[in-house]
Amino acid sequence: MIQYIMNHTKTTERVVNFNAGPSTLPLEVLEKAQAEFTNYQGKGLSVLEMSHRSGDFMAIRDQAESAIRQLLSISDAYTVLFLQGGATTQFSSVPMYFGQTGPVSFIHTGSWTKKALAEIKKFGQHTLLASSEDTNFDRIPSIDTSAIDPNSSYVYCCSNNTIYGTQFQEFPDTGAVPLVADMSSDILSRPLNIDQFGLIFAGAQKNAGPAGVTVVIARKDWIAANANPNLPLMFQYDKHMKEDSMLNTCPTFPIYLLGLTAQWLLDQGGVAAIEARNQAKAHALYNYIDANDFYTACVNGSSRSLMNVCFKTPSESLDTEFHKRAAEAGFIGLKGHRLVGGLRASIYNAMPSAGVDQLIGFMDEFRKR
Ligand SMILES: *Cc1c(COP(=O)(O)O)cnc(C)c1O
Repeated sequence: MIQYIMNHTKTTERVVNFNAGPSTLPLEVLEKAQAEFTNYQGKGLSVLEMSHRSGDFMAIRDQAESAIRQLLSISDAYTVLFLQGGATTQFSSVPMYFGQTGPVSFIHTGSWTKKALAEIKKFGQHTLLASSEDTNFDRIPSIDTSAIDPNSSYVYCCSNNTIYGTQFQEFPDTGAVPLVADMSSDILSRPLNIDQFGLIFAGAQKNAGPAGVTVVIARKDWIAANANPNLPLMFQYDKHMKEDSMLNTCPTFPIYLLGLTAQWLLDQGGVAAIEARNQAKAHALYNYIDANDFYTACVNGSSRSLMNVCFKTPSESLDTEFHKRAAEAGFIGLKGHRLVGGLRASIYNAMPSAGVDQLIGFMDEFRKR
């Protein structure tokens, strides 16, 4: 079991890391990577030093893909790509590639969708399907699927709003219009019905692995139908698909760590088991917050995120005092995003239940003081 530091001495043990991203990784994954860092499985070299086209690396890549396929029950109708440029590059490449056939039906739930919208506007039209901007993004808005323009190129949403702490519990049935989701902060946290989506993208560094690789899961026929050789090469999904994400040198080490993390998830019992654990962790924290007058949750009801729990103390100065004292006690990354203030505990897959229990213990001590 991980030893958490609970005193003010110099940190020699690992802290309890509530960073929003890049964020905590399973210790078992880090230790495995460390053990084989200089000499991968007796091959005499590091994964960092391998040719991305070597048989050894291809096996690493294939393992990562097959573990993700297994975790999310992804059928052969979908491709799984490992790209670079982060989720932010997908904000541009999705509308550039798929947004030419009609307006994008857009669901606005916070600053990440705002950034995506700025890119959508560069490449075409959009219509606003739903928004929670009027209440400062404190909820997932209700979505009237009958209002989806059938000529839309796709419906766009962000499944988990990392900054505001809201999350879709279920996704709208968009019928024949493909649904695109930014799942950067909750991919692999729960089972999904992949067939509901045209395309999912996720920067790995929140919940799936390290920074440097972006996972794209997309319907092959939809990619093929939108092929456009005039686009910059790196924005052509069909080319990435054809080359198995080897259009150029792929991010080898991030893909390796992503594969180790996916294997760790399989060892934990898969995404259904991890979802149950994520629910238990989030409920423990929300229940504690709701049960006293000192802390207040920023989001209520079914919009609450299981990944990013946003909360406040009675004043801004106490918030500041809280994350300062928490950091001294070994609980780092609890400062809320600068756009919303307050406090935020990001409790992704790799955060053990014990970390959440210890945070609740600290919160209770702080409240009493
Ligand atoms: C962090 C985050 C992004 C940005 O990801 P990059 O990989 O840094 O581009 C986009 N969307 C969501 C939901 C995020 O949490």
